[in-house]
Amino acid sequence: MTAAALEVAVLVDELMPLLEKLYDLLPEPMGDPTAGTTSHRKAIGSPAPWHAEAGPTLYTISEEARRLEASLRLEVTGRPGRRRGGSDANTVAALHAITDLVHAVPDEHARQAAHIVARWVRQARQVGDVGLEERPRRVPTPPGELPPLCPYCGTWSLRVLPGDGKIWCINGECEDRDGRRPRGHLDRSDVTGDGMISWADGRITKRRDWA
Ligand SMILES: [Zn+2]
Repeated sequence: MTAAALEVAVLVDELMPLLEKLYDLLPEPMGDPTAGTTSHRKAIGSPAPWHAEAGPTLYTISEEARRLEASLRLEVTGRPGRRRGGSDANTVAALHAITDLVHAVPDEHARQAAHIVARWVRQARQVGDVGLEERPRRVPTPPGELPPLCPYCGTWSLRVLPGDGKIWCINGECEDRDGRRPRGHLDRSDVTGDGMISWADGRITKRRDWA
């Protein structure tokens, strides 16, 4: 078993319980948009036909899992196989098929598959109500104030995880004084109680310097 094929198996294992959580968030069974079917049941107390985040994320994963399975199957057997229907069970079957098929493709292609499955895991985790991974946000500021500029590149590229205060610059070109992507921590100053950012290279950005 190649390392990449093993990684796909591990990631699919990680994805399965996340998918269940996403299904649980849906107020009613999802129609299959490709088959033109929609549910006619009323979603009582819910203005949206599906959960605002879980629905689209599930749809993306379901679609892409079918496509990835078909492309792996084409590579291994010379045929893409019959297109699966839109049911949840079919998505799970597609994921199991992917886990099997990656053993028979070149390592490079198994690695590409692992990248794709890793992205699904990330996307599933980022759905707010799954609550396993917070979404990065802009730095919170009082109403009417602009968020702080990144002190290294001077753009509004700072993002923070509100729960633990981790902050970083999303500008791919940006480097701190150590030549690394700027990372820091959003804290409150002991002296003034104002917000401040402590950076990995030792730099401190104070609240009053943000404006
Ligand atoms: Zn920056």
